[in-house]
Amino acid sequence: MSAINAFLLRHGLRIASNPCVSPDFCLDWPALAARLRAGEAIPAHPRSRFETAAGAWTLLEDAASGDCTWRLDAQADGPSERLLEDGLAGGPRLAFFPATFANLLRLKNLVQEHNPASTIFPTAAESLGRSTLGIGARFTTLHWPAVEWAMSRLGIGVTANQNSIPRELVYDVDAMLEGRLDTVPFPFIGSSVPEGHQGQSVEGMSHGCVLSKLKTGFHKRGIPWSFNADHQPIGGKFDAREDALVAGCILASYITFDLSPELAQTPAPADPAAWVAARVDPALVASVKRRVAAAGLTIAEAEFARLLAHVWPALEKMKRRDEKYRAARAKRFTTACGREFLRELSIDELPGLTAPETTAVMLALCESLGMKIHFAAPAFGFQKNMPYPDNAALRALIARQWAVCEKFGASIGFHSGSGKSAENYRVMGEVTGRRLEIKTSGRYTYEMGRALFASKNGADQALWREWHRFTLELALLGSFSADATESKMARTFVVDALDKEGRSADVFASPAACRAALEALPPSPEHMFWFEYNFLYVLAAGGRPEKAALGDHTQAGYAQRARFYAISEEGRLHFARNVAGYILFLAENTGLAPAAACAAARGQLDAYRSLGQMLADI
Ligand SMILES: [Zn+2]
Repeated sequence: MSAINAFLLRHGLRIASNPCVSPDFCLDWPALAARLRAGEAIPAHPRSRFETAAGAWTLLEDAASGDCTWRLDAQADGPSERLLEDGLAGGPRLAFFPATFANLLRLKNLVQEHNPASTIFPTAAESLGRSTLGIGARFTTLHWPAVEWAMSRLGIGVTANQNSIPRELVYDVDAMLEGRLDTVPFPFIGSSVPEGHQGQSVEGMSHGCVLSKLKTGFHKRGIPWSFNADHQPIGGKFDAREDALVAGCILASYITFDLSPELAQTPAPADPAAWVAARVDPALVASVKRRVAAAGLTIAEAEFARLLAHVWPALEKMKRRDEKYRAARAKRFTTACGREFLRELSIDELPGLTAPETTAVMLALCESLGMKIHFAAPAFGFQKNMPYPDNAALRALIARQWAVCEKFGASIGFHSGSGKSAENYRVMGEVTGRRLEIKTSGRYTYEMGRALFASKNGADQALWREWHRFTLELALLGSFSADATESKMARTFVVDALDKEGRSADVFASPAACRAALEALPPSPEHMFWFEYNFLYVLAAGGRPEKAALGDHTQAGYAQRARFYAISEEGRLHFARNVAGYILFLAENTGLAPAAACAAARGQLDAYRSLGQMLADI
């Protein structure tokens, strides 16, 4: 048994109440296999059925534990139980297999060899490389059905699974168990938090999002969808573990390259022109210059050399990493459709607004290095969850970038895309002719808060109040911290919340005064301090508002995470509706789906009285 499965079983952390931590969707195969051998019927997901050359497959799930098994009704006699690992013969043409990650990878080949157009697994289908919405999956199994519903209503595929690795997802469960996870600095809390702060592993997410498509029957609609391994860090301190990053992201059909770790540590040479002449192939330099000029841009010779010297080490590493993603897929997967992946070049982490010339040079370099870029993400000065204040300025800013991206056949990726205004999204859609991706992730933690806030269930309400209290305590702690950034940010959040509630924001004379003012507020998901700190609650040991308790990958952190997966049916319905409603809003305003289709879907969404009704329409 793997170390992670042993750890989870030892602490009673089962998939049903804590999904996507292990790469496997069956933690205890010996126990499940024994029940199958004894002739016990494990309930099937009736809509999950699909075919491969070997026969018909169905997903079975033990509701109490969440452990899953594949049932194969074979076409022909023979040892079908050897088709995947750890098979169990159930009869002449019947076999069962544990839903392990290794078996999922094998199944992908069997599925795609049989039907290259299958939409059970994420793919890099052409439409997904042009226009999409990036839907961060903060609450995994609670979240995917809502995305499947929205895709099925609108008939469009999106980036239906996405999160940053290793920042939000655990990139390697063994590294987690061995205490080798790194930390991520969060200046706004004046501290660092262990990476993987949402608790799920990248493989567990990859596995769960596929099973979700089968459980809801979404795969029968034939709508391709993608899985984006977001913000894959290139270079810097990440060199040492790039093979583990590549291995973990094997099922991702879309990779976002984030060059900032390498760029941050690249020294500027004293003589950039001489540096470039000594290190970069002159033919490549010439072709980049030609492409940039053909895109209608001119860059002074000295500026070009300075830029090239700055980015070249990062690009060499990006090329090396890209080759590793390609090789891993070529080794594991047998079909062309199973090996393809989309690429995004993220440059919005660089300081300041991205100049169109920079975008052009970067895209020309990637092109010359044989890396087709589907999405480029320049910086537009977006703040997470804040509308862009000036639509005319936004239109001009995007138009300058689009003029470049269009020439390179790349769409624009809008990072920090949550919480913009309808008009902002319309501008993004219009200027790019819908060749775009809006990335949204933190939004869905907010939607969980709104769902619990609106729920009449007592346990949901208790969780909501404790969640709000947790952020209130962090805001208080931060407001009076000796760390200047931390206290400045915390006070901004506090003032915003008090302003919105029409209260005096003159509260920083003492911690007691500040506490009294905040405690007098009725808890609301619109409080900025709740919005900013909320994601830290999911894996906070004991739900404690202490920095040492954050991002806790022991039993205590996962026991906290389980509380979200134990919310009521009503809470789940609210959450699913909120997620789906936000996708409709994005699709309508960007123009990805016709307004009439979005309006019809919204009407349906409002009418659901149970989650079962909603899922039945997928
Ligand atoms: Zn980015």
